[in-house]
Amino acid sequence: MSAPNIDTIVSLAKRRGFVFPSSDIYGGLGSAWDYGPLGVELSNNIKQSWWRWLVYERDDIEGIDSSIILNRLVWKYSGHEATFHDPLVDCRECKTRMRADKIEGKCANCGSTNLTEPRNFNMMFRTVLGAAAEEDDPTALAYLRPETAQGIFINFLNVQTTLRRKIPFGIAQIGKSFRNEITPGNFILRTREFEQMEMEYFVKPDAEHLKLVDEWVELYLEWFKSLGISGDNLQLHEVPADELAHYSKRTVDIMYRYFPERPEQERQWEELMGIAYRTDFDLRSHSNKPVDDEGKRVNPDSTEDLSYFDETTKQRFYPHVIEPAAGVNRTVLAVLMDAYSEKTNDKGETRVILRLSPQLAPIKAAILPLAKNKPEIVGMAKAIKRSLQPVLRAVYDDTGGIGKLYARQDEIGTPMCVTVDHQSLEDEAVTVRDRDTWEQERVKVAELADYLQRRLKATSPVQPVAGTSSLEI
Ligand code: ATP
Repeated sequence: MSAPNIDTIVSLAKRRGFVFPSSDIYGGLGSAWDYGPLGVELSNNIKQSWWRWLVYERDDIEGIDSSIILNRLVWKYSGHEATFHDPLVDCRECKTRMRADKIEGKCANCGSTNLTEPRNFNMMFRTVLGAAAEEDDPTALAYLRPETAQGIFINFLNVQTTLRRKIPFGIAQIGKSFRNEITPGNFILRTREFEQMEMEYFVKPDAEHLKLVDEWVELYLEWFKSLGISGDNLQLHEVPADELAHYSKRTVDIMYRYFPERPEQERQWEELMGIAYRTDFDLRSHSNKPVDDEGKRVNPDSTEDLSYFDETTKQRFYPHVIEPAAGVNRTVLAVLMDAYSEKTNDKGETRVILRLSPQLAPIKAAILPLAKNKPEIVGMAKAIKRSLQPVLRAVYDDTGGIGKLYARQDEIGTPMCVTVDHQSLEDEAVTVRDRDTWEQERVKVAELADYLQRRLKATSPVQPVAGTSSLEI
C-alpha cells in the first residue's frame, strides 16, 4: 500500500513535523515549504545515501559544491539566458495563468479552450550584485542558478587536473536551484526553490551514448528501489525529440506515480528525475577555442579551453556528457508516499505506519519509559538513549502512555522502539518492538547497540552494486 494521494502526505507531514508551509504566520508564500525536524533528517539521509552510492562506492566520481550565484556569462554561454523558458498561456475566461505544455489545450481551472497564444517566459530569478547597484543596471545583473550542472561544467578542468582524472569520470553535486515556475504546486513536487542531486559523467565523443543513458536509467531505478520505492510506482518516459531541452540529444525521465487517485492515463505520473545525453554542448560553449564558419571565436569571453587530451590516443576533444539529474524534494515526496501504510490494531483502530527504509528513517530507535513517574526507570531510559546516540540516531520520549508513544513512532517511521519497564531494573534488559510486525523481543542492555545495528542492517534493502561503467568507453 502507498499513500492514496499527496494531500494525505501533506497533512501527515505537517502534523508530525516533516514539512511545514513556509511563512505561515504571514499567510504563507505560494508553494514554499520548510522542512521540520523530521523532514530535514529524511532529506539529509536521502542526500547521504546518494552521495555514498555515487561518490564513495564508485571509483569514478568526484564531488564538488559550487556557488549559487555565478558570473552572468555562464548563463549566456550555457544558453539559459536565451532559451530557459516555459510557454505561458492565460485563460481569457477565468484569467488563470498556466504552462501551455501541462494542460493539453484546456484551462486547468475552468476547462475553457479560450486561451491566449503561448509566449515564452524566462524562468531564471534575477538579482543585482553590489551595494550601489541600481535595480535595472545590466552590468550588475546576476541570476540564482536554475540548475547545479553549470557549476560542474565550469569546474571541469579544475577537478580533472587536480585529481588527475582520466575519462570516463563524473562530477557530482547537491545543492539548491531556483526557477520562477509559472505554476508551482502539488506540495514539494514543484516549488520555486528546490534542491537537486546532479551528476555529469564525462565520456569520449564516440562512446555508446544511447547505451550509457540506458545504463544510468537502470542504476537509478535500482537506487530508488533501494530507498524503498516500489517498482510499480516507477515508469520510464522517453522525451520526444521536439520537447528536448536545448542541450539534449536524448532524455529519459524516470516518472513516479504522484497522483494515484487519478484515472489511469490522466497524468498519474510526474517526473522524478531525468537522464539526459548533453553531448559536448556545455564544455564546448564555455571554451575559448571553437570558431564559427567565418573563423570568429564563438565565445570571446572565456579564458580557458575545456577540452581534454587523451594520452593513449594522443587526441584532444571535448568530452560528451551523460547527466542524471534528480530532485531531492521529489525524492522525499516519493519516499513518503511509498512508505505510507495503514494497519488496524486489536481494538479496531486504524494506525498510520510509515514503512521507511531504516537507512532513511529520521529516528532509528525511540527509548520509552513504561512509567514516567518512576525516577529509576526514567534515569535508565535516558542513560540508554545517551549511550546509543554515538552509534545511531535515538530519541527519548515520555510524553504519553506507551500505546500512544508506539503509535507516534510508527507514524514517523521509527523502525524500533525500546521500552524500559520495572523488570529492566532487575534484569538489565529491555523490550524492543518492531515497527512493521509489532513483535517484541527482550534484549540485554549490554547487547542493545549491537542488536539494533544488526536489525537495522538486516531490514535495509540491498544496496545496488555500483562499480565503474561496464561499457567499453
Ligand atoms: P519539469 O518538466 O517537471 O518542470 P524539468 O524537466 O524542467 O522538470 P530538470 O531540468 O530535468 O527538470 O531538473 C532535474 C530534476 O530537478 C527534476 O527531475 C526534478 O526532480 C527537479 N526539479 C526541477 N524543477 C523542480 C521544481 N520546480 N521543484 C522541485 N523539483 C524540481
